[in-house]
Amino acid sequence: MAHTETKADISDSHVTVHPLTDKPTKLWSKLKVKSTVNKVTPLSHDAPKPEGHTRFVCVSDTHSQTHKMDPLPDGDVLIHAGDFTQQGLPKEVEEFNDWLGTLPYKHKIVIAGNHELSFDPVTIKSWECMQRYDESELKDMYLKLTNCTYLEDSETNVLGFRIYGSPWQPEFFDWSFNLPRGQPMLDVWNKIPEGIDILITHGPPLGHGDKTMSEQRAGCMELLNTIQKRVKPRYHIFGHIHEGYGVTSDGYTTYINASTCTLRYRPINKPVIFDLPNPS
Ligand code: 5GP
Ligand code: MN
Ligand code: MN
Repeated sequence: MAHTETKADISDSHVTVHPLTDKPTKLWSKLKVKSTVNKVTPLSHDAPKPEGHTRFVCVSDTHSQTHKMDPLPDGDVLIHAGDFTQQGLPKEVEEFNDWLGTLPYKHKIVIAGNHELSFDPVTIKSWECMQRYDESELKDMYLKLTNCTYLEDSETNVLGFRIYGSPWQPEFFDWSFNLPRGQPMLDVWNKIPEGIDILITHGPPLGHGDKTMSEQRAGCMELLNTIQKRVKPRYHIFGHIHEGYGVTSDGYTTYINASTCTLRYRPINKPVIFDLPNPS
């Protein structure tokens, strides 16, 4: 029987700004009672890949310390969820790109995070460390990333999987890709198309991998609602809150905080891997 969209379907998928969005810790203390957040044990790196599957390897927040990391596990597609540098300096970006060039994955997908200061026109202008460079040296920095597909509010199709990436997070001091919570964040998430398989953002959604050292919740409510009510990807990969490293599930979407660095910027957290059946 053909499914006819009813008014109830439309309102279920329509995301509006939550009145408590500015107080994520308080908001989550209310929401968590009726929310499903299951801890998930990630796949072991030596687990054999089932036939007809694609293996994804997820890292994030490597912060110019890839030379200190253990070798990465085998897989088909590498995903990096941002903060690959400390300050987005041209040399740091070049070193990261060189490292990507040494990796054997068929596809490598990268987004920026709040530390990639040279990727955001706002922080190119506002940060002191950017003023040492000519305008031309900082223009279109993403073009230095020749060894990967760079996503910025955009989508790519890899081996039949639809993957979308976005660097934005709720503002915290004056870093890159910062926006006020509420409507400005929702406007960014409204660009994510429905039907994507894997969503990559730098910051977490509220309630999954977003608990800070001081027990605050840093995740974005509008991102959680966009994922659960409208976009419904199978996997959401992010980082940013280093101490939130780990995997959870709401029963449909699996949330991976893939932060490689710890709170003290030691790159010791293992890459998280998962397999998906190849689209027919
Ligand atoms: P990064 O500077 O690498 O983006 O973030 C490093 C650490 O800063 C995180 O692990 C977290 O402890 C803290 N942090 C980053 N963003 C936020 C935020 O929005 N709220 C809070 N409370 N802490 C944050
Ligand atoms: Mn980071
Ligand atoms: Mn970050």
